[in-house]
Formats: sequence, C-alpha cells, structure tokens
Amino acid sequence: MHTKHRPMTGTVDHHDPSGTAIVVGASLGGLMSALALSRTGVQVTMVERSDDTGRTGAALHVPDGLLERITGLDTSEVPQPLAPGIQTWFAVHGALRAAIETDPLIELRQNTTVSKVSQDAHSASVITSNGQRISADIVIGADGHRSTVRRHISPDNPDASFAGYVIWIGIADESVIGHHRWPADVAFLGGGSDTLLGYPLPGANGSLAPGKRRLGWAWYDSSRNDLLRSSGSVKGSVVRHSLMPAGIPNTTYRELAREARGLFPAPWSHAILDSIERRAVIGTPIAEYVPTRLARDRVAIIGDAAHVPTPMTGSGFAESLYDAEALADAITDGGTTPIALHNYENARLRSARNLVQSGQSFSRSFARRSA
Ligand SMILES: Cc1cc2nc3c(=O)[nH]c(=O)nc-3n(C[C@H](O)[C@H](O)[C@H](O)COP(=O)(O)OP(=O)(O)OC[C@H]3O[C@@H](n4cnc5c(N)ncnc54)[C@H](O)[C@@H]3O)c2cc1C
Repeated sequence: MHTKHRPMTGTVDHHDPSGTAIVVGASLGGLMSALALSRTGVQVTMVERSDDTGRTGAALHVPDGLLERITGLDTSEVPQPLAPGIQTWFAVHGALRAAIETDPLIELRQNTTVSKVSQDAHSASVITSNGQRISADIVIGADGHRSTVRRHISPDNPDASFAGYVIWIGIADESVIGHHRWPADVAFLGGGSDTLLGYPLPGANGSLAPGKRRLGWAWYDSSRNDLLRSSGSVKGSVVRHSLMPAGIPNTTYRELAREARGLFPAPWSHAILDSIERRAVIGTPIAEYVPTRLARDRVAIIGDAAHVPTPMTGSGFAESLYDAEALADAITDGGTTPIALHNYENARLRSARNLVQSGQSFSRSFARRSA
C-alpha cells in the first residue's frame, strides 16, 4: 500500500486541529485547498458529488516547486511522479488524491452533492441533496465553473458565460502513432476558426523514454456551436456539460478526422486521428467568469469556482494553486474566521480578475471568426 511522506517543504506543520472547514469539490482545486488547510492544522471535511469515475482532463502547467510548497507532498513518492513543467491532469490528480488518503485531518465524502450553503455568526453549513446538514467554522467552494457555493457569495453574478467555442481534447501514445520528429515543445498551429495547441507529455508512468511518451492536443473550434446547443451542452449563455466521447455524433467524428488531415501536420494529425479512431475525444465548451467577490463572511471560493479563464491562458491550475496558498496564509494569520476569508479575498481578487480578462480578448476575436 502506498504510504505518504510529507516533509516540511512549507512553513507550517501539522499540530492539533485548530478550527474546522468544509471543502466542496474534490478535484484539483479542492484537493490542493484541503491539503493546504490541513497543513495549518485545520480539520477538513471534503464533500464531492462524484466517485472519481468518468473524470476528464487535459494537460496542466505545474509551476516548479509550488505544489510541494503548498501541500507538503513529496512528489518523488507518489505513484505517478510529477515532472516539472507540463503534466497530465490525471497525474496531478493521482498525486493529490494519494496524499489525501492518509491525511489524518482530512475526511473525504464522495457521492455527496451540495445543494445549498448557509451561515450564521458562528458557523457555516452545507445542505446535501439528501437533506443532510454539515457544519464547520468555514466553507470553501472548490466546486468548479458551475459552482453552487458561488451562488451564496455572488447571488447577483452567479454564472460563468459561454465563450463561443469548444475545445476538442485527446491524448495519444507514441507507441501507436510513431516517434519520428517528436516535438520538443508546445506547438500552436492553425488559425481561422481552428487553432491547435499540441503538447508532448511523459508516458503514463512518467517515462520520457522514446517510444513511451504521449502527445496531448487541444483543438479550439468555433464552428460547431450549433452542435453544442442541440446537444444541450450549452444553453443560453451557460455551459452545462462537456460532450463525452459517446455523445459526439459519428458524423462529427468523421468531419473532425477529415478536417484534421487538411489542417494539421504530423505528428499532431496522427495524434488526433488516433484519438478519433478510439473514440477518445472530449468536447469542452469554454466558459469564462470574472469574479466580483471571492468571500462572504464564513464562505469563500477558490479555483474555477472563483475564476474561469479560457484554457488559452494556460494558467487556471496555477491560479488555483496561488488561491490555496493565499487561503492557507490567511488562515494561519487569522484562524478560521470571516476576517481571514476577507483577507484571502483581498489577496487574490485583483489577480483572478486580471487573469480572466487577459483571456477574454482572445475569446472574443476567436469566437467571431466563424460567425
Ligand atoms: C478543457 C480544459 C483545458 C484546461 N487546460 C488548462 C491548462 O492548459 N492549464 C491550466 O493551468 N489550466 C487548465 N484548465 C483549468 C484547470 O483544469 C482548472 O483551473 C483546475 O483544474 C482547477 O479546477 P477546480 O478543481 O477548481 O474545478 P473542477 O475541476 O471543475 O472541479 C470541481 C469539482 O467539484 C465537484 N462539484 C461540483 N459541484 C458540486 C456540488 N454541488 N457538490 C459536490 N461536489 C461538486 C465536481 O464533481 C468536481 O470534482 C483547463 C480546463 C479545461 C476545462
């Protein structure tokens, strides 16, 4: 069995629990916050609606050393080692998830959906969809771009908006697509209503050896908004869900394959065609959210619940790490109190707004290209 080793890479070690928190959402943002809070001595209950199956994810830029500093995670001891630089969502998630498992201050309750948040002068609570109330000193919403916790904090500005395009994403194995002219770096290709972001990745076991690596690709496409609307993936200005592989029509797969051959050179076209052949493609309609608040008394939001930038910024994950760090710093100074969450908001709001706004000019011009 995997045993976790948590060296003192940050400034705070475990001590007796000092305060309690509920973290809503156990994806990357929630896992990082829970680990950061536990390192300040806070007892954390995580509430996650899914059971870890059906997870999807692309590639992430992991700033060197930041993850270790916040979580205390020794990245050399996790099942899928984290290389500096670009990593897959699954490798990062696997490492964080392994760390949670053996943390005595963190309890994870899966298959539990939060439907409402409330608070009074002394505590904050979540109400689950089966009517259970769970209370703590503070509630942290890490529940993603369609956040329920955000509704409590910003009832007048609750929804992220559809940015006008979809990203098709996939990952292909070098052993299948061949390794001649393997790209050394991230590639931007295309133009018009199609832009491709391609990125070389380590193999599933972290290997960088020729033959064992992988290629990730993210194809920005502003020409298929009708499909997004007819499938219910986008309704009005709100993104409701991604198009999972089985939900993408065969005609769309065929069109994508034909267009990929014409638009993109090898090895990127090979990676796309392989993913299409395996029906291992996910279509994610892109949403954006510029926050006006990050906290209200005993409740705060982090990660995509707090700010949703276009993935073209490449910074959503790093920004979530900075949120977790700022939250832990504020709680170290102020305890699990409204003042601490107010200080967290002051530390992060401007940067979060700037990040999303920096991507909006790309989104506006890209979405117009097929209009
Ligand atoms: C297609 C795509 C590509 C991306 N590419 C990049 C990139 O290249 N670089 C980068 O830095 N970032 C990228 N990002 C963003 C990055 O993945 C996120 O910013 C980061 O992972 C933080 O996400 P999160 O944990 O805050 O939210 P999410 O990953 O959305 O997680 C939210 C969690 O909350 C749970 N949840 C939701 N509602 C409830 C509820 N009511 N009750 C209980 N649980 C609930 C969900 O099940 C989920 O587990 C990309 C995002 C997308 C969509």
